[in-house]
Amino acid sequence: MTSTASTATKTATAATERDLITARHLINGEWLGGADTERMNPARPGELAALSPSGTAEDVDAAITAATAAQPAWAALPAPSRGAILMAAGNLLLDRQTSIAEDLVREEGKTIAEAKGEVKRASDVLRFFGSLGWAATGEVLPSGLQDTTITTRREPLGVVGLITPWNFPIAIPAWKSAPALISGNAVVIKPAELTPLSATHLARALQDAGLPAGVFNVVHGKGRVAGDALARDPRIAGMSFTGSTKVGLGLQEILNGRRARVQLEMGGKNGVLVLDDADPRKAAQVVAAGAFGLTGQACTATSRVYVTPGIREDFLAALVEEAAAYTAGDGLEAAKMGAVVSSQQFEQNQAAVRTAVERGAKLLHGAYDGGTDAGFRFPAAILTDLPFDDAAVTEEIFGPVVAVLEVPDYEAGLAAINDSRYGLTAGICTDSLALATDFAARAQAGVIKVNRPTAGLDLNVPFGGVKDSSTNTFREQGKSALDFFTWGKTVYTGVYLP
Ligand code: NAD
Repeated sequence: MTSTASTATKTATAATERDLITARHLINGEWLGGADTERMNPARPGELAALSPSGTAEDVDAAITAATAAQPAWAALPAPSRGAILMAAGNLLLDRQTSIAEDLVREEGKTIAEAKGEVKRASDVLRFFGSLGWAATGEVLPSGLQDTTITTRREPLGVVGLITPWNFPIAIPAWKSAPALISGNAVVIKPAELTPLSATHLARALQDAGLPAGVFNVVHGKGRVAGDALARDPRIAGMSFTGSTKVGLGLQEILNGRRARVQLEMGGKNGVLVLDDADPRKAAQVVAAGAFGLTGQACTATSRVYVTPGIREDFLAALVEEAAAYTAGDGLEAAKMGAVVSSQQFEQNQAAVRTAVERGAKLLHGAYDGGTDAGFRFPAAILTDLPFDDAAVTEEIFGPVVAVLEVPDYEAGLAAINDSRYGLTAGICTDSLALATDFAARAQAGVIKVNRPTAGLDLNVPFGGVKDSSTNTFREQGKSALDFFTWGKTVYTGVYLP
């Protein structure tokens, strides 16, 4: 009797634990889909982190149908009422910050401090856009006509599709969804396969905050199945994508083909120029934070550095010391740098460093031959003595790997920074206001950082890149994020006088 009861309790506990890490589609307010895809914890071999369904084109179709039905009533709701729901969802994320952050670490690998910061960011983003429910979005303009007023309005696109990557698995879904929703759009999101739980937490918070069924829908699954179906559906009026340049450019062709609006934020190869007049220790801290924070898995991460001769030695010595402090390990334990997200990314990091060394580069810090018995721990890597056209200098690695090259002077450094197919962020370390100002004007990147790490932006500022980093049409984040999700209308109102 006792043993049967305890077996039953154990089974119930096991089922609950499994339920807790199971993500499902959210379609028309219902949680659906069998959980057939396993996601393992990248820091703990053999530990299951999440389960999720592999969405089909039919699931995407059902989600778009639900969104299409729900959108008009949502758009008709007063904007402050829409905003109140977003703000309530933001508060819920904050209440749940620790448990969501722990799930995020288990499925993505970053440190618990980084994950908590990301959940807080998602919460702040929802509250920021929620508060915009009270803000004016149009203008009143004078008319050359008698007794006539001109106003402008922003109208929602309708149903929008969002496709997001794994590296900020709750912040990116939040910073795309919140401006879409406050503008009166309904959403269908396809989150990254590797991180289904984080997006599910966002969906739960929105649902618990009272978002009407069908306004926000989630379909998990493979990009080339669920993501592709989303991009191709003619009912999707706009698609906002963040991910690799290769996938983004493919989606652009599909969306341009049917003249739907498209926003792409893609890869980066972000450079920092360190000039002789900088403080070598402070410059090393700026570069290390940009290169090794978030395990280098940020589109804005620093991955190439150009130094002038006078500071080179001191800067490199300081950078090696900083790199040593970024101990790689389990993000739920004391590691300063979390695990690499997957075996594929881990091997990509190793191959990039190995190939550079085989071609003659010096590895000042790091290693490329570690095993994965203790999870995907990849030490911070610093490469020097590479040619400017080495793949480690030109191609995105997406890991904690930085190449340091010498340039004779500021002009050569600026030219090297700009000699890239990417243009997301660029930095300079200098005490010269004149050179910092010149750099801000001439560096070809969407975000410029003077004496600050290339990674990391406030939530209220426009974000996006140029060249192959972005469609460079609409910016994300801050109030400018509303532009992508709305279209402009000009209204003339005349008054008949008696
Ligand atoms: P990815 O391009 O492989 O995947 C991104 C998303 O696209 C995922 O949800 C994936 O399932 C989906 N997808 C993949 N193939 C698809 C297809 N054929 N059709 C439709 N959808 C498809 O990128 P990733 O590995 O998840 O993320 C890393 C990349 O994201 C890096 O290149 C990084 O620079 C970039 N990134 C850019 C920014 C930015 O703001 N610029 C921010 C974060 C990450």
